[in-house]
Amino acid sequence: MAIKTIKDVHLAGMRVLVRCDFNVPLKEGEITDDSRIIAAIPTIQHLVDQSARVILCSHLGRPKGKQVSEMSLAPIAESLSSKLSQPVTFIEDCIGPAVEEEVSRIGDGEIALLENVRFYPGEESNDQDFSISLAELADAYVNDAFGTAHRAHASTEGVTHHLSPCVSGFLIEKELAYLGGKTANPERPFTVILGGAKVSDKIKVIDELLEKADTIIIGGAMAYTFALAEGRSIGESLSEKEHISTAKAALEKAKAKGVKFILPVDNLAVKDLDFKASSFSDSKYFEGNIEDGWEGVDIGPKSIALFKEEVASAKTVLWNGPMGIFEIDACNKGTFAVAETVAQGECISIIGGGDSVKAIKMSGFADKVTFMSTGGGASLEFLEGKELPGVYALDIKHNE
Ligand code: AMP
Repeated sequence: MAIKTIKDVHLAGMRVLVRCDFNVPLKEGEITDDSRIIAAIPTIQHLVDQSARVILCSHLGRPKGKQVSEMSLAPIAESLSSKLSQPVTFIEDCIGPAVEEEVSRIGDGEIALLENVRFYPGEESNDQDFSISLAELADAYVNDAFGTAHRAHASTEGVTHHLSPCVSGFLIEKELAYLGGKTANPERPFTVILGGAKVSDKIKVIDELLEKADTIIIGGAMAYTFALAEGRSIGESLSEKEHISTAKAALEKAKAKGVKFILPVDNLAVKDLDFKASSFSDSKYFEGNIEDGWEGVDIGPKSIALFKEEVASAKTVLWNGPMGIFEIDACNKGTFAVAETVAQGECISIIGGGDSVKAIKMSGFADKVTFMSTGGGASLEFLEGKELPGVYALDIKHNE
């Protein structure tokens, strides 16, 4: 099912409400990573070039329905204005008569940014009155906030019942093309690398990707539940004993489907890990079984070499989730080696959001990957095969 994008509609002279994902990290009022703002620019620029009247909205942080000055979108307006080289009027609220008055003064090709929609409880509860108040500011709707597309909130779903047309921006279009199209009909071999803490969080993704991938590589703490399923010992490593059967079922499905399923062959393990202090008393590499008293915190050099070999022969690679506790320097080698391998591979490389994007950026190879998703939860839900409410609510493209 294809959805309409801003390329399918003419929005000149119309007031267009654009839901962006400006949920950027702030430190003392300063934006510390502006990737999400940069990702929104093509859509905004296209609307400006079309002479639309652009009304931007977004959430920032979790103000829980209250005004929290530290979570104001004011710094975003400044950043946008310098990136677009044109003024962006910041409006200190997002609904109500005063906002309507200010919005009415926006001319063709001009831009305004509303205050944080989550300052109202109606945003997250998808309240109808709040949705109507937002919709009253505009004639048409564009959703480009992939990061929140898995939430049916007023500004991502509610407003679509009161505005027409409702289309996607370029960012959502690109996210769907890479996370959807390129993984549904991949250039083969298609290798998937999954990591992170829990099998239970990613089992639906594994299940879905077992239908599409040629190879699935597992790292991170998730791998220890698979190791238990294969009858290996894992010492004190993080695992989910209640999901051993889930892991076994995934291994069996892989075998039945002829999907290569690769687990780490060696691990870095430590004693007396203190996450907060980033410290431990001793460390050691284990091949195969991990002894009692030791906790696995990263994949080892042999696993890195094995994973590299797999990626080298892949034409499409999708990566989501760290290979170890990458927040601690001594445990980040596996994650960074995978980041470098994926980025430098001669393949279509798709990074499925969250920690993997963080790791790719920290590794300095961000400009080498084909596509980095801006969504964490949204990308996972989409990869699970779920319909995202913020996408599903948009107009469908019928073959004309
Ligand atoms: P997730 O949100 O499921 O992608 O998991 C990310 C988290 O998994 C990160 O905070 C990592 O520190 C953690 N993680 C990865 N490998 C391990 C491990 N071997 N032991 C404990 N935590 C891990």
